[in-house]
Amino acid sequence: NNNNDNQKWTAVYVYSDVAAWIPAALVKQEGTNAWVMVPNFPNEQSMMQVDEKWKKNALTEMIDTSGYENGILPLQNVDQHKGHLCEWGDMVGLPYLHEAAILYNLKKRHLEEKPYTRTGDIMIALNPYQWLTELYTNETRMLYAQELIWNVSDKDPREHLEPHVYEVAALSYKGMAVDGLDQSVLVSGESGAGKTETVKLCMNFVASVHDTTTAAASGTNNTIVQRILDSAPMLEAFGNAKTRRNDNSSRFGKYTQLQLDRSFSFAQASAQLAGSKNEVYLLEKNRVVSHATEERTFHIFYQLLAAPDTVKQSIWEGLVGTTNESFAYVGPTTCDSIEGKTDGERFELVTKALNLLGIQGGSFVTLMRCISIVLQLGNIGFQPLPDNEDAAQIATIPEFEALAELMGISQEDLTAALTKRTFLARGELMTVLLKADQAKDSCHALAKEIYGQAFLWLVKEINAATCAENNYKPDGGAPSSFGIIGLLDIFGFESFDTNQFEQICINYANEKLQQKFTEDIFRSVQKEYEEEGLNLADIAYDDNSAILKLIEGRGGILDLLNEECMLPKSNPINFTKKVRTQLSSSPHLDMTPLDHVTFRIKHYAGPVEYLTENFIELNRDSLPADLKRCASSSTNAIIAQEFKEPQETRDELEGSMQRTNPKRAKSGMTNETLSSRYRTQLSDLMKDLRKTQSRYIRCIKPNTLKKAKTLEHQTTVEQLRYAGIIAGITISRSAFPNRLPNTTVLARYKTMWDKKKFPSSSQINDSDDEKRRADCIAMLTGLLEHMTTRDKSGKEVKAFVAGKTKTYFRGGALEFLQSQRLNAF
Ligand code: ADP
Ligand code: MG
Repeated sequence: NNNNDNQKWTAVYVYSDVAAWIPAALVKQEGTNAWVMVPNFPNEQSMMQVDEKWKKNALTEMIDTSGYENGILPLQNVDQHKGHLCEWGDMVGLPYLHEAAILYNLKKRHLEEKPYTRTGDIMIALNPYQWLTELYTNETRMLYAQELIWNVSDKDPREHLEPHVYEVAALSYKGMAVDGLDQSVLVSGESGAGKTETVKLCMNFVASVHDTTTAAASGTNNTIVQRILDSAPMLEAFGNAKTRRNDNSSRFGKYTQLQLDRSFSFAQASAQLAGSKNEVYLLEKNRVVSHATEERTFHIFYQLLAAPDTVKQSIWEGLVGTTNESFAYVGPTTCDSIEGKTDGERFELVTKALNLLGIQGGSFVTLMRCISIVLQLGNIGFQPLPDNEDAAQIATIPEFEALAELMGISQEDLTAALTKRTFLARGELMTVLLKADQAKDSCHALAKEIYGQAFLWLVKEINAATCAENNYKPDGGAPSSFGIIGLLDIFGFESFDTNQFEQICINYANEKLQQKFTEDIFRSVQKEYEEEGLNLADIAYDDNSAILKLIEGRGGILDLLNEECMLPKSNPINFTKKVRTQLSSSPHLDMTPLDHVTFRIKHYAGPVEYLTENFIELNRDSLPADLKRCASSSTNAIIAQEFKEPQETRDELEGSMQRTNPKRAKSGMTNETLSSRYRTQLSDLMKDLRKTQSRYIRCIKPNTLKKAKTLEHQTTVEQLRYAGIIAGITISRSAFPNRLPNTTVLARYKTMWDKKKFPSSSQINDSDDEKRRADCIAMLTGLLEHMTTRDKSGKEVKAFVAGKTKTYFRGGALEFLQSQRLNAF
């Protein structure tokens, strides 16, 4: 339509009445060719039908993208249509809302360096991959605070404010301080999409609002604020790593609850930041023992190794003179700085931040020694005994001696723990010798566990040093009541070529969050309809509770996995078979034949195939009792404390027995599996979130090149789907896909009304809402008469419903009006 001059890209631009020229969405790339979906000119059919047609067999054409860099299609010929283009800061306003329109709108804004776009209550944030400094100035912060927190006018200030992450932060702040409701901001997106930065921006906003409104807080409370702000980068040092997708990738999920003193200055809608608490999820411990060549292990290892020798000497003499290459777990890297600061500079900052938290002197050394122990464990080698291939001895004696000394464990005990395995059989303790590679595996397991425990210890310390209960002293000395703003920074939905245990855990969390998301959207649609005075009977939506039941329900996938983990001869094939037979009735388990270790779940965001090979091992997530016991005898206080079990040794041995005796496992204390711990964590999280008013920020990574002003269609559209944005819009538009303000309806179609002399003779005037609504009804009843249908009970169903300020159109109605209007020209 109107655009045949475009040779290479045979896209059809849809001319919709207000929105724009909408380019087609690139949906699938095959080599240098790509499939594009070309929407029809929405003439007689409804846009809904066009949508359907798209998905199935719309006009698809192979196009040649070889001329474009990385297959990224430029938006062509857009400039020449500028006059028709308008963009939408809030996409709820888009009259036709589908993937292509959303993509187009986001792209246009992205190129104009506008990273934020609303769709109703959801904020979409495209990673700009360049610091747009003027967006994050103190003045900007104050503008949003002023307009959204302190401005008491009835008008929605968002109407003249650009969408912004500060908008979300400010609305949360207001909700907490003025409305007295606890808040949460749920940030999601794939790795590198900008979640962690977004959360930090929110945190800084909340921390800065108060300071500027009242006299500077007391010294004590300033320290708390500083600690809270510092805790984020500190957790990053221990929990983040360079990956292919993100130089500073968080390898754990995090929920930070900011506590604010509401009593502080309720009247001024100002609340002092008084404390924070962090909950962490699923640290990727495996990264301690292996990482891809172009990636790195956790930042802290490089930072420690970049410290000056004097500092190293004070921690452990074994570090003096070492480099990354000295340790097998670290090894060479081409990258020695993250976000403009070198590892050495970072170490100083981390040390300072730790000091501020009270981790200094002895406890600083203890923590850094844990890191050193992990490093050293990587350097221990084993070899078969000369007279027994099936038993191992230590091959790297000096390294081992240094390790034993550093851990404060006798060489004998440590050797035994690493090279033998003890278990209880028929009431008797039995010992087996480990082969050299099994002994090496013990080292890896111990290293991972020590790192994981040190990380959890650090989180606990941070919480102890930042939580309001311990640290905050209200200036007036009055008892404080704390309001909460929770910030969730959690991995988004993942679907790779190979998906394993980690992915099902991540996607499980995303299903939980999606459930809340749809509930929230449903509720807000309900609210809108109520405000417009509409009947609700029309809204229906699909929720994902059946998928959740399949995963976490009784007898579901996680239950089957936990059962399998307790069997003596557990194996992935049996587990997979059980999933496929026992859960075959679930519509969300895809039953197409797959190999023996694969099943496929139809998630809300699309189907994902899981390879179950590592499920059992990772789910068990337990250290053999010998190693646990040995570690708990360490003179390193953190290790001794974190590995200490309340039960006696024999019970621990029984713990390890539970794997070989399922009956005992069921009766006694079980070794808790990773998934059962995680399930509890998630259910606690959801309980917490349900007590809050939630806002959503969906972070989108516009390209995989980490480049500014570049947007790849295909991956962006996928993320929009994963983020549930399309699904969310579908819910809010299920009954009425299009909406226009009544004023617009009257202004735009009144010529048709006059011409056709429909019954009403009233003059259109803009006197009030009620009058406008009556006019809309009179006019549209005539114009859309032929589209009226009847429901099952024979009741008349009109093609539109006029609310107080907006008219809602059923599928096809607005298109019809538009085509009539075009014909009239
Ligand atoms: P995620 O936590 O989603 O994996 P990050 O928040 O670590 O992603 O962001 C990845 C990188 O993207 C950052 O290191 C930074 O370079 C860039 N980035 C993220 N958000 C912004 C932003 N608002 N402005 C500029 N650059 C950003
Ligand atoms: Mg992150």
